Amino acid sequence: MTRRYYAPDLPTAGGTVSLSDEEASHAARVMRAKAGDTITLFDGRGHESQASITAIDKRNCVVEAGSAVAVDREPSCRMHFGIALPKPERTKELIERLTELGVHRVTPLVCNRTQRPPTESLLAKLRRIVIESSKQCERNVLMSIDAPMPIDVFLAEPHEGACWIAHPDGRPIRTVAAECQDATAATVLVGPEGGFSDQEVRSAIESGFEQVGLGARIYRVETAACVLAAHLAG
Ligand code: SAM
Repeated sequence: MTRRYYAPDLPTAGGTVSLSDEEASHAARVMRAKAGDTITLFDGRGHESQASITAIDKRNCVVEAGSAVAVDREPSCRMHFGIALPKPERTKELIERLTELGVHRVTPLVCNRTQRPPTESLLAKLRRIVIESSKQCERNVLMSIDAPMPIDVFLAEPHEGACWIAHPDGRPIRTVAAECQDATAATVLVGPEGGFSDQEVRSAIESGFEQVGLGARIYRVETAACVLAAHLAG
């Protein structure tokens, strides 16, 4: 397997690229990369290129990149998830899984029963996890993670495609997903560990969201989000 590194400034025509400190350190210390190794660079916006390491030490890595080509590994449905995120350790797992499943954007929701919205420092760690996970799963487009947003502000914004709110009272996911098979975009809400309040569910329905049920058992936030993303990713 060719090693992959994130290079946001990948030149379209190719040329010399210096990897960021973090990527250089990962290449040198973790991957034990050497001059002459062939690697793949991706820019997080859908392009990748083959490259060869010309110089490397523990802080710097310079590579000679070939021309960048568009390589599309995105699902046909562009997924935007509004999620009341769980505790940090569970959220880190969740972000890794959603990156693999091809979710395009995550907005952390602040709901009545949200315990603690993510801090700036946690958001920075989550965005780094997106990069690491994209390297591992060969995804070329980075999933974006917004600043936390109150659910009423989220609902007031325009939404793309099929709009679902995950709720145990909803119509079964198999039925709803079959009707949305050709959806090219979806906006999905997943509630906090304590669940959405009745008022939040009513507001979501008034804003055009349909309640979707995931079966007889109650899932943790991260399981519910992954089940929904897996149905939409096809
Ligand atoms: N007691 C809470 C309730 O009844 O909503 C359980 C909350 S659950 C731990 C966290 C979130 O995951 C829920 O707000 C919902 O969005 C989603 N979820 C979990 N299990 C679900 C199911 N069986 N059907 C639909 N959504 C589910």
